[in-house]
Amino acid sequence: MRLGCTSVRLNTVVATTQAPIRPDSTRLALAMLLARTAVWISQRVLRRSGGVIGGRVIVKLVPGAGEMLAAGRRVALVSGTNGKSTSTAMLAAAWATEGPLSTNSDGANTPAGLVWTLANARTTAVVLEVDEAWVPWAIRTFGPEVVVLLNLARDQLHRNPEVGRLARAWRDALSAVPTVVANADDPWVAWAAQTAQHQIWVGAGQIWDEDSLICPECGELLDRTDGWSCTCGHSRPACDWTISDGVIVPPSGSSLSYITLPGPGNLGNAAQAVAAATLMGADPEAAAAALAGVTAVAGRYATVRVGDHDVMLVLAKNPASWRASLELLATRRNALVLAFNADGADGRDPSWLYDVDFSELRGLQVTLCGNRATDLAVRLEMDGVEVTGQYGDVRGALHALPPGPVDLLATYTAFQDARRELGRAA
Ligand SMILES: [Zn+2]
Repeated sequence: MRLGCTSVRLNTVVATTQAPIRPDSTRLALAMLLARTAVWISQRVLRRSGGVIGGRVIVKLVPGAGEMLAAGRRVALVSGTNGKSTSTAMLAAAWATEGPLSTNSDGANTPAGLVWTLANARTTAVVLEVDEAWVPWAIRTFGPEVVVLLNLARDQLHRNPEVGRLARAWRDALSAVPTVVANADDPWVAWAAQTAQHQIWVGAGQIWDEDSLICPECGELLDRTDGWSCTCGHSRPACDWTISDGVIVPPSGSSLSYITLPGPGNLGNAAQAVAAATLMGADPEAAAAALAGVTAVAGRYATVRVGDHDVMLVLAKNPASWRASLELLATRRNALVLAFNADGADGRDPSWLYDVDFSELRGLQVTLCGNRATDLAVRLEMDGVEVTGQYGDVRGALHALPPGPVDLLATYTAFQDARRELGRAA
């Protein structure tokens, strides 16, 4: 696997047999021309990715560009706190069994990046990963046929501290959506999804329930004895699709196996992707089979050889994804590098470390790096996890470990740093 710095790259899954969809506005065509020039300058002269700049130019010159570019297309949106990029790649692979489509595989999931993706899309079908906070905007702008809703939990505490506020914004916006494919195991998602015109419920699982202890409807404590339910009547919906032991179970009751990506969340992501692709016209078995091709999304779960080490890269951004990842890594029992930053995209407030239980890492060899590694070292000591050392970069942390397999778990910006650093070595 070759790793490297990712420039903005539109991923047209199947590309050139269809003619580009042309904007029917002279002003929009001019804006796109200027945007492409801005992107060219950004990439060639400034050596920076340029898609977001391109999108900003278009939106500035033509405020209604998003609506114009989405007109006549079949748009699917994917959102949630965790698993967006992976689930978007899965849905793109699954739906592409029916024909060509485009998607924002560069991960640019706010308005400028989304508009830029559409401006360059040559297909009618489009799958877009959308930042949780921008879901209402994306619904109003793109008029999606389906919205896939994965989960809601704390993420970037300085930016989206209130899960309930996001859920309320989703709920208000979703009444305009024909169909949602929603995770029935997440009470906030289920509550938000109720207002859509039609729901396909997927029992995709919930690894982190500590942000959904109370009923979104009435504020009472939820009963978690069997799924979740409340005395007010709000309870886990009956599911159309379920998961079980590496298998996706569609409404027909057949079994679709999925074992490609590790971790407890990915089977649920796969089930939601196949359910959405099926809604859009794909054959469920072909859609599930296509997921085998989704092996590493933007470096996640990629394994690279670095010196004497085989390193699997795992991204974990918030308490929910750290818990899911630690569950996975604790069973693998490999040596560990934990790379911990608290820069803007990570969320500048790392106090959530104290909501994650690290005790499963006791007995493993652990080294640390990242600009807030000391915060993590203190937390690990409180949970009785012995740390071999703290280093200035990933290479240093790796070299302190014996040869063999290593799992590297990193926050968002630390993950990008690690990809750059190891990409040169790989
Ligand atoms: Zn209630």
